[in-house]
Amino acid sequence: GCTAADLVTAIRAAAATVAEHRVELIQLDRAIGDGDHGENLDRGFKAVLAALGQSTVDDPSAVLKLVATTLISKVGGAAGPLYGTAFLRASTAVKDRAELTAADVAEALTAALGGVVARGKAEPGDKTMVDALTPAVQAATGESITEVLTAAAEAAQAGADATVPLVARKGRASYLGERSAGHMDPGARSTALLLRAFAEAAA
Ligand code: ADP
Ligand code: MG
Ligand code: MG
Repeated sequence: GCTAADLVTAIRAAAATVAEHRVELIQLDRAIGDGDHGENLDRGFKAVLAALGQSTVDDPSAVLKLVATTLISKVGGAAGPLYGTAFLRASTAVKDRAELTAADVAEALTAALGGVVARGKAEPGDKTMVDALTPAVQAATGESITEVLTAAAEAAQAGADATVPLVARKGRASYLGERSAGHMDPGARSTALLLRAFAEAAA
């Protein structure tokens, strides 16, 4: 199963991925938004690393909660509160479990999507992170955590790729109207990157 220590390792891997893809995410957001998505997420995950280094986290739920509260307090814009809510709902979904099973991970992903939708009110096809997270949740099945996360990550990237032709109906990109078509949504891409980092950390 996935212990608190395993989850911390996965979060560190996600932070490294965000740092590595910072410029790519900035460029995607520059095309249809205000160009800060890579900076926002990198600042947020660097703050998460600092917070993890200063706290003792007893169980996976506590790790997820620390990530959530840090992202909510350190990341401005749309994505900070949305990802923060996702991690907070995931934390609640796996409360009081010492080790997460594959089913727990799938449950946490479902809860995360619920949080993003509750907060941002986006539907599939609106050209947001929901377009990556929805197929990820649908695909998140398997015997092992690695299987669940690998399937989720692949579906998320396919979902992110499928945002390219879409016209944005939520967030800053929606201000562009038809001109938002032809570019991948930055939040959908970052969701796919985070899930891939989790999958690779679990492998
Ligand atoms: P901001 O747009 O405020 O500058 P970011 O650039 O960090 O914030 O994040 C932009 C991303 O947030 C978008 O690419 C999109 O995926 C996501 N997003 C924006 N609004 C919503 C929403 N209402 N629901 C879900 N995701 C959203
Ligand atoms: Mg932005
Ligand atoms: Mg912004």
